[in-house]
Amino acid sequence: MSHPRKLDLESKLSTQLSGIPRSGIRDFFELVIGRSDVISLGVGEPDKPTPWPIREAAIRSLEKGQTSYTSNLGLESLRIGISKYVEEHFRVSYDPKTEILVTVGVSEALDLAFRAVLNPGDEVIYHQPCYVSYGPSITMAYGVPVPVNTRLEDNFALKASDVEKAITPRTKVIALNFPTNPTGAVEPPEELEKIAALCVKHDLLCFTDEIYSELLYDGAKHKSIVEYPGMRERTVLLHGFSKAFAMTGWRLGYACAPAPLREAMMKIHQYCMLCAPIMSQMAGVEALRLGAEAYEGMRQSYEERRNFVVKRLNEMGLHCFNPGGAFYVFPDVSSTGLTGREFALKLLEEKSVAVVPGDAFGPSGESCVRCCYATAPELLEKAMDGMAAFVAKYRKAGA
Ligand code: PMP
Repeated sequence: MSHPRKLDLESKLSTQLSGIPRSGIRDFFELVIGRSDVISLGVGEPDKPTPWPIREAAIRSLEKGQTSYTSNLGLESLRIGISKYVEEHFRVSYDPKTEILVTVGVSEALDLAFRAVLNPGDEVIYHQPCYVSYGPSITMAYGVPVPVNTRLEDNFALKASDVEKAITPRTKVIALNFPTNPTGAVEPPEELEKIAALCVKHDLLCFTDEIYSELLYDGAKHKSIVEYPGMRERTVLLHGFSKAFAMTGWRLGYACAPAPLREAMMKIHQYCMLCAPIMSQMAGVEALRLGAEAYEGMRQSYEERRNFVVKRLNEMGLHCFNPGGAFYVFPDVSSTGLTGREFALKLLEEKSVAVVPGDAFGPSGESCVRCCYATAPELLEKAMDGMAAFVAKYRKAGA
């Protein structure tokens, strides 16, 4: 009997995947796994568990034996809660029956939104440095990612003039995320207004990822692009429970969009996901019932930690603007003579402090690192002490 040819599984994989790198965050954190000595300012998630009443709502639902599928759209009570919450926070109303879809996190909602509208070759403009999934999600939906750089000297705000330069006849969507992961940037309203006007002028769709919209500091009030004239009809608002409500593990999010867009997203969701887990949805109902009561204490404590970290970084001589939201700082480390990646690797090696190399969020973040300050204050202090000694050493070596 002849030997069968060796199976070459690589050659069987979709070519669409071949240009997509693995997440730079994940790659870096494989180095940290199993090391209990490391202080991690790495993964972007709250240090506290989900507030107790929200956990209790899920426990109660399990006790009642609520373990079934829900409507593909999500529980009606949750969609009603989302509609009320969104109206209160974004001053835009959505019909729970026709314009809201409950998803498995904002991650799924983003994927559905891109897949629902992109034809091969359609371009999506988004700002960079940005959350790691934007470029790959666009590529996997056969679209073309068109990143527009933001800069430290502009506090990583997105300039409407840069957006305008990137628009071509193939542009279909502008994707925004303010406050931004990884920079903590908040978009100035005058730029947001100009970007809204560009969407209307060029007849573009807008996907706005509002996952950090509750985590704003210095008394600022959130303003979303969906609130500007002509935007509601062309916007998909993506939001979820992971950050403000400290619910990353529940995998719960939602999309609000005009009915034809919601319907297209629903088509994909019903076949690939069916529905979000019922116990997470029950927890979500309670989270929205509590609203700010559930997250205001955490928001305040992030603000204190932001103030502490920014002060310490600037004292070390690492250039860092004061980010207006989310729970990240994105200092430029080039004064140490190291790139962001070298800085992160050596800091982990020498001081057992983990931060994420800025290039994980796009090439424009190369000279920076991302530090998530949703970490216990005493650990944050230790991490800053380690980082200060590290920076002093490399400054001296380069002097
Ligand atoms: N968008 C941004 C900007 C994020 O930072 C994250 C999570 N880090 C997500 C979406 C995904 O969130 P979820 O847990 O809701 O899938």
